Amino acid sequence: MRKITAILLLVCLLLCGCAPKQQGNIVTPVQEQLWVHFIDVGQADCTLLEYNGHFALVDGGNDGDGEAVAAYLQLQGVQKLDLVVATHPHEDHIGGLSTVIDMIPVDTVWSSPIPNSTNPTRNFLKSVAKRDKEVEQPQVGQVFNLGDATITVIGPVKEYDELNNLSIVLMVQHGDNRFLLTGDMERTAENDLIDSGADLKADVLKVGHHGSETSTGYRFLREVMPTYGIISCGKDNSYGHPHEDPLSRLRDAEVTVLRTDECSTIVARSDGKDIYLLWGEEHIFPNAA
Ligand SMILES: [Zn+2]
Repeated sequence: MRKITAILLLVCLLLCGCAPKQQGNIVTPVQEQLWVHFIDVGQADCTLLEYNGHFALVDGGNDGDGEAVAAYLQLQGVQKLDLVVATHPHEDHIGGLSTVIDMIPVDTVWSSPIPNSTNPTRNFLKSVAKRDKEVEQPQVGQVFNLGDATITVIGPVKEYDELNNLSIVLMVQHGDNRFLLTGDMERTAENDLIDSGADLKADVLKVGHHGSETSTGYRFLREVMPTYGIISCGKDNSYGHPHEDPLSRLRDAEVTVLRTDECSTIVARSDGKDIYLLWGEEHIFPNAA
């Protein structure tokens, strides 16, 4: 198994999620590295990928998160997003994207099918149209190059009535390192993905559906074999996420779990060989030294 280093991991676990502050210490990211920001948006999802001045945003939190997400992106120096992905049209994924796209130009926009018109989906489509862009539904196997990193669409492999299972599933690869982003995919789609023969091995799994009991089955974990699992969920959320069952399955699979409700924003840095995990409750970019 590839060697993965987690800076400060032990400290964070010992402090039960209390992160060291590095106030005022905003550091320009080292070039030629992939940075994956699991942005704390409470009970929602938002992931920023960054490679040498190129940026991709996967989901944008709830309606009310858009301005904070845009501010976080601007703090990272984002002047344009190469790619925006709405994994599926539930508000906690698509809601904030409208404001982000209003504030930051975007080149390419991917979304899963949007069967229903809701306020968040209407606003999202309106904002994309205002940028003179079209929403594209990517095909399985489609690849987006983000510098030397690749973002490959590996799911969904079937059509579903349940919007969660329609989540666009992405494998992000940088050198030897792989990150699997699954939106709110549930076990039906997980099993179909396995049956499709997709290579699901990943070092970091963004745990499906905020740690809901409907996701992260044993069979799926055996295929992915992640070292780290990132759960995006809100403190004391009304869904009870993450549920004990998937947490227990992750423990059985010896996955080290980090949660945004405990650590706030979590940032992974990949140099193509090793992965370093960093976090800070002030959302200040960590020193890459
Ligand atoms: Zn969700």
